[in-house]
Amino acid sequence: MKSLMFVKPGELRFDEVDDPTILDPTDALVRPIASTTCDLDHHVIADRTPFSLFGPFALGHECVGRVVAVGEECTEFAVGDVVGVAWHIACGTCAQCALGHPARCLLHGDAQYGLPVNGLWGGTFDELVRVPFADYNLAQLPDGVDPIHLASIGDNFALGWETVMPAVEGITDPKVAVFGGTGSIGLYAVDVAVHCANAHTVYYDDDPVRMEVAARLGAEVHDIAGKRDRDFHVAVDASADPAKLRKALLSVVPEGTINSVGIYFEDVSLPLLAMYQRGVSFHNGKGMARPNMTPTLQAVADGTLHPELVTSGVYAWDQIPDVLAGPNAGHKPIFVLDPA
Ligand SMILES: [Zn+2]
Ligand SMILES: [Zn+2]
Repeated sequence: MKSLMFVKPGELRFDEVDDPTILDPTDALVRPIASTTCDLDHHVIADRTPFSLFGPFALGHECVGRVVAVGEECTEFAVGDVVGVAWHIACGTCAQCALGHPARCLLHGDAQYGLPVNGLWGGTFDELVRVPFADYNLAQLPDGVDPIHLASIGDNFALGWETVMPAVEGITDPKVAVFGGTGSIGLYAVDVAVHCANAHTVYYDDDPVRMEVAARLGAEVHDIAGKRDRDFHVAVDASADPAKLRKALLSVVPEGTINSVGIYFEDVSLPLLAMYQRGVSFHNGKGMARPNMTPTLQAVADGTLHPELVTSGVYAWDQIPDVLAGPNAGHKPIFVLDPA
């Protein structure tokens, strides 16, 4: 099969590699219908992460696909099922997985597709993906949904749900701020905040394309450089920019919540005294995709969420290297291998 390799910053190529096989009875093999980038991938390609030094490796950890083989202990899925694939390699049963923390799986730790972290598990821009513990890490797509625009369900899209919905629980008339910048995560968070949380949602960014998408999703949109409100119940920092993180931290009501999903590879100074005086809950960490995939998919099936508005372009599979290494990759390019 062909596997998309990140070679070095700005350079991607398809390599011919052996097909993965069922190694454990809990495995499944999935052939992507459509795959997309995590926002992090763009930073890897642009030489803005430590991973950028470690090529070549198979890139990509977001896809929807069709099950083409199952091991004998994979009982929830059958050949032909159309599924979303979680980005993490989690056992689903250890103490951390049982707490809903599959990205902290005690068996596989940081293991994931598409980055050289705790083993090599292939990437979702491969023509075939081996999914360990498939009963846990796969999610059935509901009938009637278009899988193409759900390519991100196993990571960034589910993260939109995770950053907003638990934090607004119990709040009447929530007000949510989203600080964009990484690409798609902030936009998925806007979709969830507007349509699932029914929140007054304000989107801050400096990119006109993303700002227009956020407006179409129903957010009030402001340039990040302008005046900001400070009365949000929840602020989502999807900026990966220390100055914007600082703004997010100081934007919430007393005892408000800030969820930061932009990754900071360097130490960042925080306004801790101001945070203390305000009283904030600050969460910074990986997304726990699998438990958040199910309610996100249900909201798509209900017609509540609009992931197609976040998609920045739909491309053929053989265009992956050129589009992703090119100057106009877009915030959420989706590549189609096998139409449904
Ligand atoms: Zn990711
Ligand atoms: Zn586990």
